[in-house]
Amino acid sequence: MTSICIFLGSNPGADPVYARAARDMGRELAVNGLTCVYGGSDTGLMKLLADSALEAGGRVVGVTVQALRDKEIFHPGLTELHVVTTMNERKALMTELSDGFVALPGGVGTFEEFFEIYTLSLLGFHSKPFGLLNINNYYAPLDALLDHAEREGFLKAPHRNAILRADTPADMVKLMMDR
Ligand code: AMP
Repeated sequence: MTSICIFLGSNPGADPVYARAARDMGRELAVNGLTCVYGGSDTGLMKLLADSALEAGGRVVGVTVQALRDKEIFHPGLTELHVVTTMNERKALMTELSDGFVALPGGVGTFEEFFEIYTLSLLGFHSKPFGLLNINNYYAPLDALLDHAEREGFLKAPHRNAILRADTPADMVKLMMDR
């Protein structure tokens, strides 16, 4: 495992605990020699992740879309920034460049990116590990929805259990590196 893709909010979140987790994750990747792949933005938790990884001497690779230039301000100091044309190309390149995937708290963009990786794994399109970092119990409602889907017969138990989970960035990075 040499690179991990992090999905997380382009907003900072309401509680400072989210900012702390984004910064801890950036540093954790860097000190373990892992390249951080992310969406390339200079906003919200995304910026904090990238800044922290760079400050700790890590490699940070951004993958973004030209049309988002105004909305998501591209980070100016990344090791590499790939600017593609469509959101689908963005996800495909992030997937190709990464050996594993972790979602921190975020909004619908984060959910979308995480669920694409989840579904592609269930369908056998990749076999890379992916996990949810449950900072501040942020993903408890998502767990409740997945439990509901399993109970109602729309999600098989092995598929329900395919998601790695941890409460701290250090634990999540360790889980990924042990795979
Ligand atoms: P959010 O969690 O909504 O703050 O968004 C986090 C990141 O996900 C941002 O960089 C968004 O541009 C990105 N994003 C949102 N929707 C999509 C999508 N359909 N495909 C790929 N990335 C997306």
